[in-house]
Amino acid sequence: MNVTDVTAIPVSVPIERAYETSLSSAPGGDSGTHDHVVVRVETDADVTGYGEIAPMAAWPHGLTQDACTRLINDSLAPTVEGRRVMRLPRIVDDLERQLSGEPFPVYGIDLALHDALGKHLGVPVYDLLGGPKTEDRTFDLHYSIGIKGSEEMAADAAAAAADGFRAFKVKVGGDDHGAERDGIAAIADTVPDARIRVDANQGWQPEEAIRKVRSLDAAANGLTLVEQPVEYDTLDGLRRVREAVDPPVLADEAAFSPRDVAAIARAGAADIINIKLAKTGGLHRGKDVATVAAANGLTCFTGSMVELGIGAAASAHLTVSTPTITYPTGVMNQYADDTLVANDDEWAVDGPTFQVPERPGLGIEPDREAIERLRTD
Ligand SMILES: [Mg+2]
Repeated sequence: MNVTDVTAIPVSVPIERAYETSLSSAPGGDSGTHDHVVVRVETDADVTGYGEIAPMAAWPHGLTQDACTRLINDSLAPTVEGRRVMRLPRIVDDLERQLSGEPFPVYGIDLALHDALGKHLGVPVYDLLGGPKTEDRTFDLHYSIGIKGSEEMAADAAAAAADGFRAFKVKVGGDDHGAERDGIAAIADTVPDARIRVDANQGWQPEEAIRKVRSLDAAANGLTLVEQPVEYDTLDGLRRVREAVDPPVLADEAAFSPRDVAAIARAGAADIINIKLAKTGGLHRGKDVATVAAANGLTCFTGSMVELGIGAAASAHLTVSTPTITYPTGVMNQYADDTLVANDDEWAVDGPTFQVPERPGLGIEPDREAIERLRTD
């Protein structure tokens, strides 16, 4: 099976307004829409594969929707067209050489190639990735709670706990540390067996991080982990925090490639690696990241850039097929009015455990009508 065409389609999908009362609570952005890219790969075997990119220009190595679309359509598509889909790893090697240090466009293409290959072979992508860790094809989910009044946060946590959730993620690192501390204490008081993790999104300087992590750790009666407390390019700062605080430290913005993970391990800068398909350039290199992490005694967690249905499905296949990914994940949470997937009922979250559907490829049926309606080019 050879690739005959690669097309990147920019789409803008309205963000659901009622998300705070659903199983999710973190917004995807402030533009009112998710400005994403759908990647479509056509083949000569009558199989079409789909991938998705959730661009984020403010991130290290991030790009805009327009940049991702143009790079694929103008530069990367010719590298992929005419190639054998089975040789996906060699295609990814060539794309990385062509677009060094910019994984976002590569991840959309990698996802679409995996989808096409799985459909052609009649196997789910998790089987292309080595098979599910457990026969029931399940993994655990966490519940995200945004910083707001502590009573509201406690109510959110109580509602989620009633649905069975015990793992909670709270975004911190903002201006009001007192409010963050009070909110976390309120969750811990309301759900005594809550496992609370915080993500500071590079929000602190190292000494500040040490002080604030200790404060939040006390409020939580022991945090599960602290994510990216300092800026992405200071492994020494990350190491200093790790050596001074009790909770394990998770590297997110600092950890893109296998080489990044090796450097983090050498520096003793983190305990856990956040694998996001956007950072690794897709599933193929994501597996490499997990392998390098495991070889260095690090565990992993699957993060997301708040992808819609196609990208979330890909993250699910990675999670369910990677033994070193051991933490509950938020990748299945849905924040948009439309996931661009016709069979989204099979991908709906209704509790703290998610079962990956047993279908060929990524297991999603793209909603072609919605993609056409929401495309912006
Ligand atoms: Mg993060």
